[in-house]
Formats: sequence, C-alpha cells, structure tokens
Amino acid sequence: MQIYADNAATTKTSRTAIDAMLPYFDQVYGNPSSLHHVGQAAAEALVKARQDIADCLGCEAREIYITSGGSEADNQALRSAAYYGAKKGKKHIISTAFEHHAILHTLKQLEEEGFEVTLLDVHETGRITAQEVADAIRPDTCLVSVIFANNEIGTIEPIAEIGAVCREKGVLFHTDAVQAVGHVAVDVKAMNIDMLSLSAHKFHGPKGIGVLYVRKGVLLRSLINGGAQERNKRAGTENLPAIVGMAAALKEACANLDKNAAYLISLRDRLIEGLSQIPHSVLNGERTERLPGNVHFCFEGIEGESLLLLLDAKGICASSGSACTSGSLDPSHVLLAIGRPHEIAHGSLRLTLSEENTPEEVEYMIQTIPEVVAYLRSMSPVWRDLQEGRRTYVIQ
Ligand SMILES: *Cc1c(COP(=O)(O)O)cnc(C)c1O
Repeated sequence: MQIYADNAATTKTSRTAIDAMLPYFDQVYGNPSSLHHVGQAAAEALVKARQDIADCLGCEAREIYITSGGSEADNQALRSAAYYGAKKGKKHIISTAFEHHAILHTLKQLEEEGFEVTLLDVHETGRITAQEVADAIRPDTCLVSVIFANNEIGTIEPIAEIGAVCREKGVLFHTDAVQAVGHVAVDVKAMNIDMLSLSAHKFHGPKGIGVLYVRKGVLLRSLINGGAQERNKRAGTENLPAIVGMAAALKEACANLDKNAAYLISLRDRLIEGLSQIPHSVLNGERTERLPGNVHFCFEGIEGESLLLLLDAKGICASSGSACTSGSLDPSHVLLAIGRPHEIAHGSLRLTLSEENTPEEVEYMIQTIPEVVAYLRSMSPVWRDLQEGRRTYVIQ
C-alpha cells in the first residue's frame, strides 16, 4: 500500500486546479498589463481569481496581494509592519516561540536591525491565550504575529480572541494561516485580522504561489520593486496559471470545508486512538483544537529519522515534524516550545491526512506503525536502559 500522509509539507495538486490552469499556458497567455485583447483576457482572469480568493476569506478583492507563497507573504507582512512601526518610534514585535521559520528567521533579522521581539511561551497544549498577548502589548508594540494553526502539531490558536485584543489596543495583527486556509473556517473581518498569509500548495493548489491579505487602510511596503503589479506592492509579471489554479483550489476547498473536515476528523481520531495504544507514546498538541488532518506523536526510545525511513519502506510517507528542520539534528523548536524534553522530541512522527486518504489506509498505519516502533525499540540501547531501569521514562 502506498500512503501519502505528509499533507502539511505539501499536497497533491487537485484535478480541478490543474484543469483550471491549463488554458492559461497556451490560450490565455497574455500579460495582464498589456492593453491588447490577449492581455486583457488575462487581466480579466486575474480579476476573477482575485475576487474568488477574496470571497473565501471574507474580504475585498483589493485587499488580496499575490505573492510567491507563504514564506514571501510572511516576510512582507513582518517587514512592512516593522518599517511603518519604526517610523512612529514603535520597534517592539510580539510573536510566539513556535512559529514557522519564515516568521522566526525574519524576526531574528529584525532583531539584528534594532527591533525588540517578544516570543510568547506556548502551553503544553500547543496554545497561547489572548490574555497573554494582551499582557505583552506595550505602547511601542507595532505588530502581533501569531500562527493560525501550527504546521507541526496542528493546534489551532484562539485567533478571533487575539484579533479582538489587538484591535482594541490598536496594534496590527498578522497571522500565518498557511496551514489553516482551506482546512478550517477563516473570516478575516470577523476575526479582526489585519494581515494574513496563505499558500496554495497547502490546499491542493500549485506550488510557488500565495497571498498576503492586507486590510484596507493598513500600510503595505513592497519587498520586490519594479512594475505596478499588485497595486505597486509586488512587482513582476503575474504567474497567471498559478494564480488561477490557486483560486480554483481555494474555491473547491471552501465549498467542501465542512464535509472534508468531518471526514478528516473521523480518520484523524481513529488514527490517534490506534497509535495511543503504543506504550510510552504521547500525542502532541491539544486533542480537539487541532487541524482536522493532523496526528502528531512522540514515541520514547526511538529516533524519528529511522522511523521515517522504515515507514517509507512500508509505503507510508510521513514526517518527523516540519520539512524545514529535517536534515538538521536539532530537535523541533515546536516540540521544545511545548516543553517536550530533547530525548523524546527526537522520536516524533507527524501524519497529516487529506481527503484522498481512506479508512483502509488508516487501518494499515495503525497496524504497521506499532510494529515498526517495536522493532526500532528492540534494537535501541536507550530502550533497553529504560526497560532495565537504568533510565526513567519521560513518557509514562
Ligand atoms: C508551508 C508553510 C509556510 C511556507 O509556505 P511556502 O508557500 O512553502 O513558502 C509558512 N508557514 C506555514 C505555517 C507553513 O506551513
């Protein structure tokens, strides 16, 4: 059996998205900035795609800025808020310790440039509270940026409450919603979100395309300068096939949101139940306030990397956490942020499901993963020490 259970890393581009894109390579191939009819056909498609995306987020088309993906949207949001904040003498930014690296590494750069960053601690549940954000806000705070749903452990943050706090205190609020959009309900107006990042390849759209939503009235600074595209905020000829594919994928995801979520939650909960039977295992992240397709465990006494290789050999594509940290020997900053000690943070497994996964696949994983964990433990000196009482279990 071949199972793709790494949908938080990327998703398969849907048939709907591919079919929507194809005409924009060789039929409607004009440059939307051209005045002739070939260009104008492309411009019309761009208008429509932008409107479709706006409708899914509950905003206006002119509040949608196309980017090359989630990373660029995150970089632009932070840099822009920092730039305009500094102009008013506000150089303090609040975020969390378990953001995506597109946020954390940009914040690190901003720190080097003289900004002060407060990273809020995350509870063991993988959540922060709006009150903690409120308590951290200072008169010189120019931005709060909190991930909507964590890409490793899948926990969903209280975004509407945080949005309300920020709006009340007059501080800009950005959220990296790359894992959330297309999977859980997102309404930028109702949630008082000023800026939001999304990425098409996380909801069955193409790779290399995304959006930064910016509420009208919020100043936005360009990262890429050149032509007048994206209302002068992001230069470069539009990647129209990708934009159309993104809009088609988002429209489909939003139309089926409840149905897909219900299906995924049933698969997720069955998988969690099955894997919880493994001795000395722990589910990471809150049990219910988590993405419909996210399952994330730590298993004591094994190495996540070896687990992944053996699972791959058995046809299961999984991840130890985020794609960005694989290859490095450091344990995931997300797991450390929720208080998992190093020795168990290394033994992590993330399974992220999509609508394409089946109950049969879940049963196969429930049968296979405990066998592989047991096999790895049988060869592990750490496990032997635990069993023979020379070490104490971290996970009871
Ligand atoms: C995937 C991801 C990103 C990066 O998006 P790209 O389009 O791959 O640049 C940023 N934030 C989160 C939470 C993600 O999951």
